This record gives sequence, C-alpha cells and structure tokens, in this order.
Amino acid sequence: MTSAIEKIWAEIDKNQDEVVELTRELVKIPSVNPKFQAEQGLNREADVQTLIQGQLKDAGFKTDRWDVFENRPNVTGEWDGSDEKSLILCGHIDVVPVGDASAWDRDPFGGQVDKGRVWGRGAVDMKGGVAACLAAANAIRRAGVELDGRLAIHSVVDEEAGGFGAMDLVKTRPLAKRAIVAEPTWGAVVPAEGGLSWVRVTIFGKQAHAGWRFNSIWPQPHTEGRIEPGVNAIELANRFLNALRDFEASRCRDNWHPLVPAGLATINPGVIRGGAGMGEDGNPAIMTNAAIISDVVTIDLDYKFMPDEDFEDVKAEFEAFVANFAAMDPWMRENPPKILWDLFDLNFPPMNTPIDHPLTQSLFERAGQI
Ligand SMILES: [Zn+2]
Repeated sequence: MTSAIEKIWAEIDKNQDEVVELTRELVKIPSVNPKFQAEQGLNREADVQTLIQGQLKDAGFKTDRWDVFENRPNVTGEWDGSDEKSLILCGHIDVVPVGDASAWDRDPFGGQVDKGRVWGRGAVDMKGGVAACLAAANAIRRAGVELDGRLAIHSVVDEEAGGFGAMDLVKTRPLAKRAIVAEPTWGAVVPAEGGLSWVRVTIFGKQAHAGWRFNSIWPQPHTEGRIEPGVNAIELANRFLNALRDFEASRCRDNWHPLVPAGLATINPGVIRGGAGMGEDGNPAIMTNAAIISDVVTIDLDYKFMPDEDFEDVKAEFEAFVANFAAMDPWMRENPPKILWDLFDLNFPPMNTPIDHPLTQSLFERAGQI
C-alpha cells in the first residue's frame, strides 16, 4: 500500500506542469453560468465538458454525458471496481461573470501564469480543482496502480446558480460510498459544511389608496362610514427585517461547530419585492404605483444552518419565531406571514462526516492536518 502511494506521489511530482496546463486550458474556455449572463460566446460549458470528456477517455474512463439544461451537459467518467470502496471526485465547471472588465489587470480568460499562479476566472473556483481530479487519476494510471474500488470523476454544470447540475446527477446517476469535492479550501480538508435552504416570507397588509394614509397617522374625529386605515405591508416588512436581524444574531451566537466558522448560521435577505395585489407568480402584481398602500411584500432569504442541525428542527424554530413576531401585532395575528421553504427547489443538506471516518483520517494524514 505504502509503495503504491509513493509511486503515485512520484507521478504527481513529475507531472506538475500537467495540472497547470490543464487548468489554463479550462480557464481559456469561458463558461460563465448563463443564469447570470446570457451571452453565447461566454456560455461555453459544453466546450469545457468536451475537453474534459476527452481527457477522461484518454485516461481509460467509461464516460457519460447528458444535458441538464439545453446545451449545458454534465460529464462523468468511471473506472470499474467494487462498490464497497467506491469514490467520487467532483467539481463544477461553470464560473461567475467577470463583472467590471476594466478592473482586471489580466485577461480573465487568458489563463496567464505569473508569480507562480494561474490567473483568470475559475482558476481557483474551480477549474483548478477539476484539473487536479483529472491529474490525480492520470497519476494513478501512470503509476500502474490498480484500484480495488470504483473511481468516478463528476464534472457538473450550474453550481454557481444553485447546484442543479450536481442535483440532477444525484437523482439520475449511480453514486458511490464516498465523495471528495475539489472546491477551493486553501488546501484544508473540510469534512463538515452547513446546509442551506432558500425561503420566501410573504407579508400581507391591507390595500388602500395613499390618499387615505393620513387616517393611519392622524386618527380622524369622524371616521364612521369613512374608509378604514390601510395596513402597509412594506412597513410591516421593515419591522420584520429588524426582528429577523436579532433572531439571526441569536442563532449565530447559539450554534457552533468546531469545523466551520463561528457565526455561519446566517439568514440573508437577498431579494425583496413590495407592491399591491398578489400576482400569479407569488410576488406583488403591481410594483409601479407608489400611490397604493402596499398589501404584499415578499422577502427571499438565504437561510444557512449548521452541519449537525436537523432541517426539520431548523424549520420549526424559524416558524415559531415568525409566529411569535406576528402574535405581537393585532393585524399580523389575524393575517400571519406565509413561509415557503426550498424556494426554486433550492435545498442543500448539510454534511458532517465524522473526523474518525477512514476517508477523513486518510485525507487529514496526507494533507498533514494531523
Ligand atoms: Zn465553486
């Protein structure tokens, strides 16, 4: 066993240029996730996958390729072996947009090598990781080492906009007993990661014309038969967000795990929409008329939770917080906010691989982390 590992290390050392060159080749093919920026010349995930599939075939992998979205394929490669010791090496090949191009010193798709680094979009996150998976397989093959277990390399699309490439793979393709994701961690072995759900909170008010707002600020002496005050959902949402900030802080204080950063359990309000009337898509129907007292606000939250938290407990805790918040207001008590979990099907379960698991131990040892 030791000699096999030494042989593989020797191959890796001997072929360091290989992983650098492959990373550069991958960076040079722009594969910006089209959900962020739809522009044909930049959305070349399929071309990256063609390159990777070729590499996999050259290394003797049996490959598979299928579209997750139109012309956005996943690619996998597999070496046969026992299921008991099966392992997946996984990476994504989409990248986020360049942003302000003039702020770059170098061509974001140039793959330039300078100061001992490869520069460009995706060099770190995570074409470098994908290249490392392929280089590892090549080193094993060149060292002439036969693996007992089945080894798979998964190259997926659409990580940056929800992870739907990997989710499709999990639902439709054979998996393995263990998996290593080659995301950048600055070389650290990270066996634990928090979970995530996107959550929509809808807050309801009572619609009225802004011309009647004065009667909610300055109660009028003769209100009988006059229009009752509206209830502004945007103002309720403002109060809700303030309370949420305190709730988030208490969750971040109370929950900790030794292997993830303190304060990980954040609840980020990422999107807010306010207006009048409930639209068919679950958002306010009218968002262009400031003369209507708003009766619908939707707030979309990025809700993170800890590696060892159970999702059902997480849901129950937040639902209790919202119910208590609503109970403090006579209007909201009768018209409670609505909570929708896993908005757009976005739900990442946490992972919490024990540190005494054989894979974790082996990785710690190789990385010099113990
Ligand atoms: Zn990534």
